[in-house]
Amino acid sequence: MTIMLVATSCAVAASAPVRISGQRAVEAAMPAVPRATHSVSVKLFHFSGSRWRTDDIVEALARSAGLLSTCGVAVTGAVINEVEAPRRFHFYYTPLSRELLRTIRAPKPAVFFVEDTRNDPAFDAEAIGRSNSTTRPELADTIWVAYGSRDLPYAIAHELVHVLSDSGEHSEEPGNLMHDETAPQNSHLSSAQCERLLTVGEANGLLKRMTK
Ligand SMILES: [Zn+2]
Repeated sequence: MTIMLVATSCAVAASAPVRISGQRAVEAAMPAVPRATHSVSVKLFHFSGSRWRTDDIVEALARSAGLLSTCGVAVTGAVINEVEAPRRFHFYYTPLSRELLRTIRAPKPAVFFVEDTRNDPAFDAEAIGRSNSTTRPELADTIWVAYGSRDLPYAIAHELVHVLSDSGEHSEEPGNLMHDETAPQNSHLSSAQCERLLTVGEANGLLKRMTK
């Protein structure tokens, strides 16, 4: 009996303590969207001891929310979560990120601010929708942003459009947010892109229709 108890405590000590160690509502930092028809509740995740500053993350999301507002989408109920996890989880790497999601069961859409990606090809920011998550279901409706990503508000908004529309489609239209290269001059969404985002996002339960 004693041996069993010792063995159990060893197993606990050796397993990775992964948990949400802090949570803060940041809805007040998001822009008001008077003409919003839909809302999206974005959940943000960063890791204890990482280089990301929470103020930078929240400010970037607020500016992303401004870009999405042109489709009549308001970011509401945004929460920033601090995750305590061994360093190997601080990187986007499919097998470990799946394991992370199985542990913390994040509400979606969820945006993870990671140190870097260990996936190949390595993107600064990457979104996983429904249709490209069949082999990695835990990662559906998540976004992974590497530290140092350029044009952060544009990158987050661009990836949110991918997730909400469940589409990997890019646009060649000048100034369009969905150019494959993110840049501050690419900020516009067409009415067709908004339509798809609203229809698919609502059907997938990521967007809620707002009642007047
Ligand atoms: Zn893209």
